[in-house]
Amino acid sequence: MSPPTEPVASLCPYCGVGCGLEAVPQGTTFKIRGDRQHPSSQGMVCVKGATILESMERDRLAYPLWRERLDQPFTVISWDEAITRLVQRLQWVRREQGADAICMYGSGQFQTEDYYVAQKLIKGCLGTNNFDANSRLCMSSAVSAYMGSFGADGPPCCYDDLEATDCAFLIGTNTAECHPIVFNRLRNHHKRHRHVKLIVVDPRRTPTAEVADLHLAIHPGTDIDLCHGIGHLLLKWGHFDAEFIEECTHGFADYVKLLEGYPPEWVADRCGIAQSDLEQAARYWGHAQAVLSLWSMGINQSAEGTAKARCLINLHLLTGQIGRPGSGPFSLTGQPNAMGGREAGGLSHLLPGYRHVTNPRHRQEVEDFWGLPRGQISDRPGRTAWQMVEGLERGEIGLFWIAATNPAVSFPHLERAKAAFLKSPFTVYQDAYFPTETAAYAHLILPAAQWSEKTGVMTNSERRVTLARAFRSPPGLARADWEIFAEVGRRLGYGRLFDFADAAAVYAEFAQLTAGRPCDHSGLSHERLARLGALQWPCPAGCSDDEARAPKRLYTDWRFATADGRAHFCVEHSHGVAEPTDAVYAFTLTTGRLYGHWHTQTRTGRIAKIQKMHPDPFLEIHPTDAANLHLNDGDWVEVRSRRGVICLPIMITRSIRPGTLFVPMHWGFLFAERAEANQLTHPTACPKSHQPELKACAVQVLPL
Ligand code: SF4
Repeated sequence: MSPPTEPVASLCPYCGVGCGLEAVPQGTTFKIRGDRQHPSSQGMVCVKGATILESMERDRLAYPLWRERLDQPFTVISWDEAITRLVQRLQWVRREQGADAICMYGSGQFQTEDYYVAQKLIKGCLGTNNFDANSRLCMSSAVSAYMGSFGADGPPCCYDDLEATDCAFLIGTNTAECHPIVFNRLRNHHKRHRHVKLIVVDPRRTPTAEVADLHLAIHPGTDIDLCHGIGHLLLKWGHFDAEFIEECTHGFADYVKLLEGYPPEWVADRCGIAQSDLEQAARYWGHAQAVLSLWSMGINQSAEGTAKARCLINLHLLTGQIGRPGSGPFSLTGQPNAMGGREAGGLSHLLPGYRHVTNPRHRQEVEDFWGLPRGQISDRPGRTAWQMVEGLERGEIGLFWIAATNPAVSFPHLERAKAAFLKSPFTVYQDAYFPTETAAYAHLILPAAQWSEKTGVMTNSERRVTLARAFRSPPGLARADWEIFAEVGRRLGYGRLFDFADAAAVYAEFAQLTAGRPCDHSGLSHERLARLGALQWPCPAGCSDDEARAPKRLYTDWRFATADGRAHFCVEHSHGVAEPTDAVYAFTLTTGRLYGHWHTQTRTGRIAKIQKMHPDPFLEIHPTDAANLHLNDGDWVEVRSRRGVICLPIMITRSIRPGTLFVPMHWGFLFAERAEANQLTHPTACPKSHQPELKACAVQVLPL
């Protein structure tokens, strides 16, 4: 493609904050800067967005690669040969083992166009719902919580609420490091207005907690108890909205009964915090005009992630803190386009437009729209991420297709996951980089274009859709993910369904399929997004430019998407962490991210500045625990769980609770030996969201 001469508006492809970027041509290269016109980020970027271009140059995968067996070296092959091999295998597996022996594991790094064409191929043409994405490890508990409480997915808030709240309740989110630009906006508001309160709930004293008015360092796994404890006090002190509860909610009487069992002295003891701190938190909630709660992986990555998020939402229902400026429950998305993935049906129980595979009307709508025979889409939810591992173990999967993600680092119980990958008779790995940890398990490797090399849209945490335009050519023969899926569809004989002129045509078709649905994109197009900038959904066809530009909140009329139009209280007790500590495994290990790195380092591990910032993994331990083990700062230890062992140096810090340890999750075997956090974690998952409890497992620490 010919290089642009004017700045090109784009979007940071790292996290769900979704900051606008501009690529400014400078001779033969580009300078990346924040886009001041982007409403979400207003020109701000963190170190990842600022250095993104550096990651585009190293270790790029440029040609398809093939090998018969995993112990052989790869050979470069043509696209024609690669697609032929893939299509022949798809046809053979479908014929010999059935469509459900085919699995695709995709990514919140996909643009919406990639997601959409993948759904059409896998769920529509091939007739299996075995498409899941790394969002399963990230946001699926938020999805099922919104569904359970409001009747539809979709965060109700927008980023303008960060500057309209007078009490921000941050639970299970280290926002300062993991969603830094959201935090900048909130922190600036907090600094400017002394009455604004910031409450942070986290077992670690993170940089987020450092600046809070109140830090509740609860025991891991006691989030539900804390929420019920706050609810108990709000009710007792009369801080509830009787009119909202009466007119707009369901299940209040049962909720009140449940809260009776959460007196403050019991809750404080259970959570490991002072009763006065619990009461202060409830006081801040009760006295605020607008309460905004933010959450992320500390809530979602749990064996009771759905219940945790719903019990947090309960507090908003109790106090009527929803649908108004500055208030509401707000999940912060991990991946840049996990939201777009949900909209496009990119989880194994979903179809495009927030539809569900188990709903006959939804299946028919999609079949009719795609021109497929009724009954073509399976009525069974497909395999979730971990169920794919279990399917590989049982020999039920004949083709495993992984795209734009690195499960050989990010899956829980990594040794078991890797052993399952080795059993796959045919693994396709579609990515932008080589080598990666997951590439070691692949037979066929397909080179994918990535950010800056392909045009498409992504939706950020506040439901804002940004067009990211290509401004450079991909390396070698790399192609956009959606183009690869479309080519496979055509070669399978579905040419008519994949006859897209470009990414704009893909998006136009997807947007049409969302008309009238909660996530209505039908008023959006590449052309309109280019002309007006990033816009939020719902954006129905026919809305004016001013309407399209206006900030949007959901449920402003307090009518919800449930069958009865009411929001539903969740009446559940906590079961605590799935793997409690005992005499042998006496510590609770929690995992998380660092400011500079992104997930498994596929990009950030290749950026010198970020490598310098976070060169090595480490284990955070409290001074009391270190003293009991006769350890000094920097000593190496072995950390063991029932599943695996890792070795790393300790960092003694008061920022972690005694009895709790922290290890960053970024290191796979390519970047550090024997330091993979997920060797230790377990796959026990929330029964509703199927999101594994990556945030807590029981371990022991042995000095080396
Ligand atoms: Fe990118 Fe997230 Fe940083 Fe914004 S906050 S620049 S989206 S990584």
